[in-house]
Amino acid sequence: LLRIRDVSKKFGSLEVLKSINVDVSPGELVFLIGPSGSGKSTLLRCCNRLEEATSGSIRFDGSEVLDPKLDVNALRRRIGMVFQSFNLYPHMTALSNVTLALRKVLGKSGPESKTIAMAALERVGLAHKASAYPAELSGGQQQRVAIARGLALEPKMMLFDEPTSALDPELVGSVLATMRSMREAGMTMLVVSHEMRFAREAADRVVFMEGGVVVEQGPPAQIFGPDAQPRTRAFVSNED
Ligand code: ATP
Ligand code: MG
Repeated sequence: LLRIRDVSKKFGSLEVLKSINVDVSPGELVFLIGPSGSGKSTLLRCCNRLEEATSGSIRFDGSEVLDPKLDVNALRRRIGMVFQSFNLYPHMTALSNVTLALRKVLGKSGPESKTIAMAALERVGLAHKASAYPAELSGGQQQRVAIARGLALEPKMMLFDEPTSALDPELVGSVLATMRSMREAGMTMLVVSHEMRFAREAADRVVFMEGGVVVEQGPPAQIFGPDAQPRTRAFVSNED
């Protein structure tokens, strides 16, 4: 579904991505791990054109993401993104935060957007909090509303950039459980996260990046196992 080939990115003379190759197949949950500054966020942002790659190719669902003529808004409807900070509107209820996206982005009518939004809140286990304001929700619940907002647009794939790192430890589990159920429902996901235990249990594949290059990628058993490359092992054992 997503095919990243030889992608490089420079900020001025600083090359932060160096010929990256990563594939994500339909229904896969792929984890992107690596030290701070290794280029993880930049790579995700290149996938939905929040950042412009300097060279290479990103094929998504049959089209070239890096094509200058590509309709970027259409791309972002098909590839959703969830950030560390949930970016909910504080003066709007959970339900309104989700319906706003449906009305603005997809041009849905009020009643239709409400039906879809309620179904999305249901999927993240928060239908009962539809009329709550963000300040009345825990951080984990706010993040799940943000996920519902993404899901409601029915993207083909979702990108997550450290979705749990702003949360208190006891709230992390509910967001991971939501991601796990999304995976079971067949959603394709590329996730930047430091949740090593979750990566080990739930990921189909793990990509380890350092210094703008992919050092190693493979199934969790390889990346977290005794035969991983020395750099990978050093990073993974430090994170645990
Ligand atoms: P972290 O784990 O801390 O989030 P990361 O792996 O997501 O790190 P990136 O945010 O992708 O790393 O940053 C990679 C490199 O690119 C860093 O050296 C960073 O300083 C640099 N960088 C990121 N954005 C910009 C920008 N807009 N202008 C210049 N340099 C940038
Ligand atoms: Mg980052």
